[in-house]
Amino acid sequence: MPSVVVKAAAKVNLQLNVGSLGSDGYHQLVNVFQSLSLYDDVSVAPAERLRVVVHNNRASEEAASVPNDSSNLAARAAILLAAHTGRSPAVEIVIHKRIPVAGGMAGGSADAAAALVACDALWKTGLNQGELIELGAELGSDVPFMLMGGTAVGFGRGEILEPLSCDRRFHWVLVRAESGLSTAEVYRQHSRWRAGGSAELPPGPTDGLVRALIRGDPKELGAELKNDLEPTVFRLRPELDRLLHLGKGLGVAGAVVSGTGPTCAFLADSAAHAEETRRLLSKVVGERRVLIAHGPVPGVEMVGTR
Ligand code: ATP
Repeated sequence: MPSVVVKAAAKVNLQLNVGSLGSDGYHQLVNVFQSLSLYDDVSVAPAERLRVVVHNNRASEEAASVPNDSSNLAARAAILLAAHTGRSPAVEIVIHKRIPVAGGMAGGSADAAAALVACDALWKTGLNQGELIELGAELGSDVPFMLMGGTAVGFGRGEILEPLSCDRRFHWVLVRAESGLSTAEVYRQHSRWRAGGSAELPPGPTDGLVRALIRGDPKELGAELKNDLEPTVFRLRPELDRLLHLGKGLGVAGAVVSGTGPTCAFLADSAAHAEETRRLLSKVVGERRVLIAHGPVPGVEMVGTR
C-alpha cells in the first residue's frame, strides 16, 4: 500500500501578547500567526508497528534532539487519531525536517498537524477540519493553527482561532540560531523576570496590523510586529538583540523574534529585497543560517501518494 505524503508549513508570530497564567497553567495569549513557505515533509505508510524515521540535513546535535519514538509529536498525533477512531496506530512515519528545531517556528506542531491529516487520509477516517483541530488542540496549543494555516489570531493558549484577511504575499528572511531554545524554559523565565509587571492583554490584534494585512503593505506591517517574549529571549541570548538591530539597520520593513525564539524574522519590501537582505545577513551570520520564505501559505497540504 502506498504512503500518504503531506507538507507542513512553519509559522512566524506577527504579534505575540502574553498575559497572566491561566488556571490551566498556561499563559493567556493574543497570538497572531502567519504560515510560511518553509516546510517539513511527513509521510505515513502502513507498518507492523508504529515507527518514526527522522531525516535532518542539519547539525547532528539538532537532528538528535528530534525523538524517533512515540514521544515524537507526529507519532503522538497518530496515536491520538487511532485511539479516537478505534484502530491501531501501526504506521511508519517518515519526517524530512527543514523547519528549525526548537526555533520558535512550531516545527513539532507542524509535524503533528501533518500526521493527523496524513493518517486521516491513509485510514480514510474522514474527519472534518473542525474535528482535526479539536484533536490537534490536545496535542499542543500551536497545532490548531498549523492545521488551519494562512494568517490568524489565536486566543486562550493560542488554540481558539479567528482567521485574518490577508490576500497579499509578504517576503521574509529568517535567521536560525546554532542551537534552539526550549519553549517551556522561555515562558518560565518570562514569568520569573516579569514578576509584578503588568500582564494586561489587548482585545485582539492592533487595527494597524489588520489594515496592513489587508493592504499588503510591508512597511505598515513591519511597524506593527511585536513580541512580548523578546526581553526574555534577549536576556537568554543577548546576541539576538544585536542581530535584530543589525537587520533593522539594513533597512528591512520590520524585524521580530519568532515566538519563543531563537529564530529572528526580518520582513522585506519585496522578493528582490528579501534576496538582497539574505545576501547581507549571510555575510554576518553565514549562509547556512539564513532562509527565505513567504507567507501566508496554507497550513498542511496534501502532496500525494508514493
Ligand atoms: P514552538 O514554536 O511551538 O514553541 P519550537 O519551534 O520552538 O516550538 P519544536 O521544533 O516544535 O520547537 O520542538 C521542540 C522540541 O520538541 C524539540 O526539541 C524536540 O525535543 C521535541 N519534538 C517532538 N517531536 C518533534 C518533531 N516532530 N519535530 C521537532 N521537534 C520535536
